[in-house]
Amino acid sequence: MPSYVVKENVSLDKRWVSEITPKAEDFSKWYLDVVRKAELADYGSVKGCMIIRPYGYGIWERARDLLDRRIKDSGHENAYFPLFIPESALKKEAEHVKGFAPEVAWVTRGGNEELEEPLAIRPTSEAIICPMYAKWVRSYRDLPILINQWANVVRWEKVTRPFLRTTEFLWQEGHTVHATAEEAQDETLRILEIYREFVETELAIPVVKGLKTERERFAGALQTYAIEALMTDGRALQAGTSHNLGQHFAKAFDIRFEDENQQMQYGWSTSWGVSTRLVGAIIMTHGDDSGLIVPPHVAPIQVIIVPISAGNWKETVLPHARSLLEKLRAAGIRCKLDDRDNYTPGWKFADWEMRGVPVRCEIGPKDIEKKQVVLVRRDNREKAFVPMEGLESRLTAMLEQVQDALFRKACEFRDKNTTNVDTFPVFEEMMESRPGFLRCFWCGSAECETAVKEKTSATIRVIPFGADEEKGTCVFCGKEAISRVLFAKAY
Ligand SMILES: [Zn+2]
Repeated sequence: MPSYVVKENVSLDKRWVSEITPKAEDFSKWYLDVVRKAELADYGSVKGCMIIRPYGYGIWERARDLLDRRIKDSGHENAYFPLFIPESALKKEAEHVKGFAPEVAWVTRGGNEELEEPLAIRPTSEAIICPMYAKWVRSYRDLPILINQWANVVRWEKVTRPFLRTTEFLWQEGHTVHATAEEAQDETLRILEIYREFVETELAIPVVKGLKTERERFAGALQTYAIEALMTDGRALQAGTSHNLGQHFAKAFDIRFEDENQQMQYGWSTSWGVSTRLVGAIIMTHGDDSGLIVPPHVAPIQVIIVPISAGNWKETVLPHARSLLEKLRAAGIRCKLDDRDNYTPGWKFADWEMRGVPVRCEIGPKDIEKKQVVLVRRDNREKAFVPMEGLESRLTAMLEQVQDALFRKACEFRDKNTTNVDTFPVFEEMMESRPGFLRCFWCGSAECETAVKEKTSATIRVIPFGADEEKGTCVFCGKEAISRVLFAKAY
């Protein structure tokens, strides 16, 4: 029996990776272990700033491209606006500046000179984009304006965590202007649906769409809508937001147009964004005790080819592995050949398992003889002996199966951890012992919302669409409820 057969004889639950803190022991430590060991990100010399390493950036890049295509297909164009916002511009919309003031970073010097007016480093770009829109919009014929930008923003955060909350992060921000309130509302909801479809299809993360309460609303918005996901520690993560800004910003920045009856009107605007947070959401939705699991659609490496290094493998196995690599690449599969000489196959299995590559393809002398390879799925560790003939289509299908399985598993988890709760003692106990989404009736008052947060640290994540059809009484005060809402502890 060749030596490799013994080495790769892995039972379904045997894990190759042992140096990651188990999730159940300390979720937060598990998360940081995965970020560090899978080489997704590292800390920089400025507190709260992260370096996104090539593998982490590769995931973001795939996600970005898949979303960018959707943004363009829905009629939007990309542009780029400056990083700096004059203080006077940031102060124009009162609610906006109040909301962002505590986390704005300022530039007060340029070279050796004190600036006459301090410049904010954008925490979001409404205040730099709206003055331009005011200049560009003259007539109803100039509308709608449908622009998106991919950029970095800075928010001076006190507590940071890689991908989830960092002082500087990457995102896209869409900024649109419309002639009517209805059009702006349609745009807000259209983008929310694009986000839902993108996050569920490409990242395999199920989300709930809904409206934010006034307390959780974007500073300066008329309404904020969001998609909320449930992480595997039972905490919610806001995965994307879409804001109907009404005429607040148009009035503050004087975005006016002449309508069809030659009357001057203020425009109606929206803004919307998703960020590198989504990489954190991928880690916390799909990862396990062996590390990361990357959904195939966004995996920088979908298939890792590991040659079994027995005997004179460089002469016997490696050439076959190389032609396999060529063949799979030609079929459009993102793959890599691990031909490192100084590591055993077992070590390599562990390394790629930790990085969450969806499928491992092993090839050894015996496989070459039999004209086959061994495929091992990262998500369920299922092993299959597959003929070399027709491998491309088999692998393509398998990657889709992994994508589907990850989404289904995440849906099951979310559903299992979404509970209707009608009394506050049960609410408190559940938030303490087994958090998740708690669907509760709420009277609509900010006082109840604040009191619940103070007592349990849980917040209303969204008022889900359609949830107002149920009738009941507020979980906190007992008054008549406006709707069931989703409460959770959140990132
Ligand atoms: Zn109440």
